[in-house]
Amino acid sequence: VLVSLAVLFAGVAVWLSFMMSKKAMGPISTAFQRQKEFVGDASHELRTPLSVMLSSIDALEMTDGVEEDPFAGKLLRNMKSEVKRMTGLVSDLLVLARADSGSVERTVEELDMEKEAAQVIESLTPYADSAGVSLFLEGPAPLFVNGDRARLKQLLYILLDNAVKYSPDGGQVKVMLSQRDRHWTMSVSDEGIGIDAEDQSRIFDRFFRSDKSRTRTVGGHGLGLSIAKWIAGIHGGTIAVKSEPGNGSTFTVQLPTDQQDGTKRM
Ligand code: ADP
Repeated sequence: VLVSLAVLFAGVAVWLSFMMSKKAMGPISTAFQRQKEFVGDASHELRTPLSVMLSSIDALEMTDGVEEDPFAGKLLRNMKSEVKRMTGLVSDLLVLARADSGSVERTVEELDMEKEAAQVIESLTPYADSAGVSLFLEGPAPLFVNGDRARLKQLLYILLDNAVKYSPDGGQVKVMLSQRDRHWTMSVSDEGIGIDAEDQSRIFDRFFRSDKSRTRTVGGHGLGLSIAKWIAGIHGGTIAVKSEPGNGSTFTVQLPTDQQDGTKRM
C-alpha cells in the first residue's frame, strides 16, 4: 500500500509537469493566458487526489501493527507531511491563478478588525505554543474598518505564520492595529532571523525564499507573501517590511478606511 501511494504521488507530479509543458505551446499572445488558466485547472484537479491520499494515509496509520513498525510509521509520517505541504502549495497556486485571471470576487463589509485579529491569533496559538513563540495583540478595541473579512484574515494568517516560522524558541510576536486619518494599519513584528537588505525587495515575488529560510528546516514554498501583497492591493493598500538580519522583522499593511461596501470582481 505504501508503494502504491508513493507511485500515485510521483504520478501526480509527472502528470503536472507533462501537462504544463504541453499547455505552454502555442502563440505567445495566448500562451500566457492559457498557462494561467492551466495552473488554475491543474490546482483544482489536484485537490481531490491529494485529499484522497491524506485520508488513505490516516486510515493506514490506524491499521493494526503500523504503530509498532518504526519503519512503516516513519514512511507514513514523511508521506503525510509531504502531502500536506503539497496541498498547501496547490491551494496557494489556486489563489494566485484566480487572482491572475481576474475572476475573484471581493466582498467588502464593515468588520471589527480587532475581533478578527483576535480570532486569527487564537487559531494559531497552539501552533505558536508548539514552537515556543508567544503571540500578542495591541490596538484599539473595537477597530471598525471596511474590507473583505476572509481575505484580511488570510493576510494576517500568512504574516503570523511566517513570524512564528522564522522566530527562535522563546520569541515574541506582536500584532499592532492602529487608525489614523483615512487609513488603518496592521503590523506584525517578530524577534526572528530577519531578512538581508538585498532580499527585502524580493520576498514579495512568487517562489522567492531567502537562502536563510531554505537552509532552515521550516517548510514553505515562497507564495505566502505574494498572496499577502495581492490582498493588500485589492483593498487599495500597501505592504512593506522593515528588518535587520538577526534582529527580527516588522511587516506593515496600510489600508484606506473608505472601501466601498458590496461585492466586486477583481
Ligand atoms: P515561505 O513559504 O517561504 O515562508 P513567503 O512568501 O511567505 O514564503 O515568504 C518569502 C520569504 O520571505 C521566506 O522564504 C523568508 O525568506 C522571508 N520571510 C518572510 N517572512 C519572514 C519573517 N517574518 N522573518 C524572516 N524572513 C521572512
